[in-house]
Amino acid sequence: MKNHSFDAIIVGAGAAGMMCAAIAGQRGARVLLIDHYHKLGEKIRISGGGRCNFTNINTKPEHFLSENPHYCRSALARYTPTDFIKLVESHRIAYHEKTLGQLFCDDSATQIIQMLKTECDRGHVEWRMPASVTSIAKSAAGFDVSVGDEALQTRSLVVATGGLAVSKIGATPWGYQLAEQFGLAIVPPKPALVPLAFEPDALATFGDLSGVSLDAQVSCGNGEFREAVLLTHRGLSGPAILQISSYWQTGSAKAPIHVNVLPDAARLADLQAKRQSKVQFHNLLAESLPRRFAESWCNAFDLNKPANQFTDADFAAALGALQDWQIKPSGTLGYNKAEVTLGGVDTRGLSSKTMGVTAIPNLYFIGEVVDVTGHLGGFNFQWAWASGHAAGVAIAESRQ
Ligand SMILES: Cc1cc2nc3c(=O)[nH]c(=O)nc-3n(C[C@H](O)[C@H](O)[C@H](O)COP(=O)(O)OP(=O)(O)OC[C@H]3O[C@@H](n4cnc5c(N)ncnc54)[C@H](O)[C@@H]3O)c2cc1C
Repeated sequence: MKNHSFDAIIVGAGAAGMMCAAIAGQRGARVLLIDHYHKLGEKIRISGGGRCNFTNINTKPEHFLSENPHYCRSALARYTPTDFIKLVESHRIAYHEKTLGQLFCDDSATQIIQMLKTECDRGHVEWRMPASVTSIAKSAAGFDVSVGDEALQTRSLVVATGGLAVSKIGATPWGYQLAEQFGLAIVPPKPALVPLAFEPDALATFGDLSGVSLDAQVSCGNGEFREAVLLTHRGLSGPAILQISSYWQTGSAKAPIHVNVLPDAARLADLQAKRQSKVQFHNLLAESLPRRFAESWCNAFDLNKPANQFTDADFAAALGALQDWQIKPSGTLGYNKAEVTLGGVDTRGLSSKTMGVTAIPNLYFIGEVVDVTGHLGGFNFQWAWASGHAAGVAIAESRQ
C-alpha cells in the first residue's frame, strides 16, 4: 500500500532533488520524490554533450554568481567535489578530467542518473512520476500536498524544480511560483551560459564567419575568461561567451563585452615586430588569427594595405582594436539555448546551512531554483549536489 505521510516530499527529481532524497532517505527519513516529466534526469542525460561534466575539482565560491555571494560557501564546504568523486568511484563509473578541472564520465551521463537512482533506492525513496502537484498548503504538522487525486502529508517540503532552461525537457516556473506563494522574494530569472546575438551591423559584417573559432580573453563587469569564442550565424558562442553571458546579464544597462582576440603576449609582440613589413595587414594577422576572420576584420575596418603603409599611430590603433573588440549584443538566444537560469529564489530568505526558509520551518529550496548560478565547467552540478546534501542532512537531523 502506498504511504500518504512522509518526513519529506521533494518536488523535482533532477540532480539536486535525487541527491537530497538519497541523503535524507539513507539517514532514515521517509521520502517521496515527485516529478512531472516522464523521463528521469533528462537534464543530466543531455549535460556535458552526453557525458555529464559532473563536478569541477577547482570549485570555489568565486565560481558562482548570486546577489548574496557568500550564501553558497557553507554548503559547498560541507559537500565537496571530492565527496562526489568518492560516490562516483564507489559506483565504478570511469571518468576523466577534460580541461580546467572539469570531470566528465568516460562513457555516458546516464551512469550518473543510474547512480543517483540506486542511491535513492538504498534510502527506500518512494516515487510519483510522472505526476503533478496540484496544490500545497501549510498544515499544523507541515504541509498538505495534493498530487492528482492523492492527498499527502509531509513534515518537510523541498522544492528542487530547477530553472527555466530547455522547457521541452520539463523546466517550469513552478518553484518560483511556490516561493511567491510563501512570501519569498525572487531575483528576476534570466537565461545564462547562453549564446549572444549580434546587433544588425555586426551581423552584416561577421555573420558569414559561422564556424570560426578564436582563442580570446573576454571580459564584462567583474567577469574575465580566456577560452574559445565561436562565431555563429546569429552572433557569438563558445565557452568564453557562455561564461561572460552571465556577467553581461547582471551588468547595468547592458555594458559592452570586451573581446581581446590577441591575448597571447608572444604573438602580439611578433605582430608588433612586423610593423615595417610589406605584407598585407590581413596576411600578417592570419599568422595569429583564423584567415577568414582576419580578412573580414580588415574589410570591415578598411585596413587592406601593407603593414608598412600604416602610420605608427594607425598600426597601434589597429592592434589595439583587436585587443578590445567591443560588442553590444542585441540579446541572448534565450532559455532554449541556455544551460542555466541566473536569479531565482532570493537566498536572503534562506539558511545557508540547511537551505531552509528562515521564516517557514521545514520548507527548503535547493539546486538551480535558488539564486546561485555557477560558471560553466561542472560548477552547477556541484551546487546541485552540495545544496541537496545540505537539505538532506537537515531533514534527517530534524527528525531526531
Ligand atoms: C544542455 C545543458 C547542458 C548542461 N551541462 C552541464 C554540465 O555538463 N555540468 C554542469 O555542472 N551543469 C550543466 N548544466 C546545468 C545543470 O544541468 C543544472 O544546473 C542542474 O541540472 C540543476 O539541477 P536541479 O536539480 O536544480 O534542476 P534539474 O536537474 O533541472 O531538475 C529539475 C527537475 O524538476 C522537474 N520539475 C520542474 N517543474 C516541475 C513541476 N512543476 N512539478 C514537478 N517536477 C518539476 C523537472 O522535470 C526536473 O526533473 C547543463 C544544462 C543544460 C540545459
